[in-house]
Amino acid sequence: MAYKHTIDNELCKGCGLCVSVCPKNVLEISDQVNSMGYFPAYQERPEDCIFCTTCCIMCPDVAIIITKVVEEKADQE
Ligand code: SF4
Ligand code: SF4
Repeated sequence: MAYKHTIDNELCKGCGLCVSVCPKNVLEISDQVNSMGYFPAYQERPEDCIFCTTCCIMCPDVAIIITKVVEEKADQE
């Protein structure tokens, strides 16, 4: 089963909680400001993510979503 990890840049307040709780040290805080004036988290090392959901559970702003990806080759629209 494949999963996709998404951080909503516009919901993220850059608190850094997800960065510190990630057991695989996947996340970092961006140096690019979002529209609310915060520096959002992003996956610096996405290949290391084990989709443990710890960051989703910890995020106070529910900015992180992990979704299941259907393993089917589909043409991009
Ligand atoms: S799902 Fe787990 S491994 Fe992946 S970024 Fe979040 S805390 Fe880190
Ligand atoms: S815990 Fe949520 S709000 Fe805080 S930096 Fe991570 S994604 Fe952003």
